[in-house]
Amino acid sequence: MKVQTENQTLIQKDKEHLWHSMSRFNANASPMIASQGEGSWFKDMEGNKYLDGVSGLWCLNLGHGRKEIAQAAYDQMVNISYFPLTLSHVPAIELSAKLSSLLKASYTSYFSNSGSEANEVAFKIARQYQVQNGNPGKYKFISRYRAYHGSTMGALSATAQANRKDKYGPSAPGFLHVPPPYSYRSTFESDLAAAEYIREVITWEGPDTVAGVILEPFISGGGVLIPSKEYLTRVAEICKENDVLLIVDEVVSGFGRTGEMFGFMHSEGVQPDIVTMAKGLTSGYFPLGATAVQSYIYEKFKEEGDKQHFRHVSTFGGHPAACAVALKNIEIIEEEKIVERVSQLGSTILSELRDLESLNCVGEVRGIGFLFGIELVADKQTKEPAADELLGKIIAVCKEKGLIIGRNGDTIPGYQNVLILAPPLSSTEEDLRFLVDTVKTVIEEHDLKQL
Ligand code: PLP
Repeated sequence: MKVQTENQTLIQKDKEHLWHSMSRFNANASPMIASQGEGSWFKDMEGNKYLDGVSGLWCLNLGHGRKEIAQAAYDQMVNISYFPLTLSHVPAIELSAKLSSLLKASYTSYFSNSGSEANEVAFKIARQYQVQNGNPGKYKFISRYRAYHGSTMGALSATAQANRKDKYGPSAPGFLHVPPPYSYRSTFESDLAAAEYIREVITWEGPDTVAGVILEPFISGGGVLIPSKEYLTRVAEICKENDVLLIVDEVVSGFGRTGEMFGFMHSEGVQPDIVTMAKGLTSGYFPLGATAVQSYIYEKFKEEGDKQHFRHVSTFGGHPAACAVALKNIEIIEEEKIVERVSQLGSTILSELRDLESLNCVGEVRGIGFLFGIELVADKQTKEPAADELLGKIIAVCKEKGLIIGRNGDTIPGYQNVLILAPPLSSTEEDLRFLVDTVKTVIEEHDLKQL
């Protein structure tokens, strides 16, 4: 009785004082309040247990309760609790060197607190670099429709999902969008034609006006779009030919999510000029963003002069505890061979999920590593997207059965029709069995029902 009253009080306080991300206020529904987590599972205040099939917001890559990570934060906090990166500290030094070695070229990292910030920093560095490299007119960025690059004004301007931007306009000037490779619905004949379209936009905008192209190797929140590996290779060539910086957003795809340490590593000959990271960098145990730039970019910021250096500061960016957590997180990923595991198990899961394509309501199943999208349709012939209610119902029934799954973000009305699975990379085979069986059963049941 006492516990129930305490829960009610918490719910009441939540409803009055806590503003939730991306959630419509619902006076009649209670928020799901987490009380305890272990591995890929968590319990809510009522004691219901759930498998987190989306790793929180695609970040809890090593699952809950890793004591070594907590210990790394504790040890750091009782030693040097805070220190700014206007000066320096050991965990940031070690982490920047580690990222450079993981990226397999010489990179210098600027640390911030989130994926949005990491992208903001990338845009500012890219513009300043172009100016200091003798190309002051190169200020535009190209990103793809359906992409999400963050919620702050610059990152939101690069984001090309109309619903997300509604009521926050106008966007920052200088951000252009092109269609992504998306073989299921594309107007392009091939993924390479989608890459060539970027060349065309650069040509017609004027190569001397374009600073960079930003893209995720695999659009994640926008509906899990998996292009052929040659797409990114071709985009990288086009960027190089036009002196345009290739900025790869690895906020979701970094640190093993796709079965490579970084998503761009699936494509031959790609070495991005700038790589942005967050989420899996700390497996969500601490906020941290990183913007890694190749050394020839950093060189331009070392030159003599009043305003040649990067004039950007982040009080908490690269917090010593966050960097210590990231280092321990990476150590575990390497020791437990998480990347190899995700690559192997991911292909098996994908082929099992592909059985769903025989159903009327499933248009296409896509995936790579531990990132899966199941595109639901109302009509297989016309590919008309499935009704919102069908996705809502499937997500709700999975939840009743103890599984949390997601769907693609606010792209445009009617096109939030992709169910998304992105379980923790450390999920046990038993966890993954539960995930696949539950999703398949629930979708099969709803195919028969046809709402
Ligand atoms: N980039 C991508 C691809 C993302 O999916 C996200 C967040 O979901 C971001 C950037 C922004 O990250 P954050 O929420 O940490 O600002």
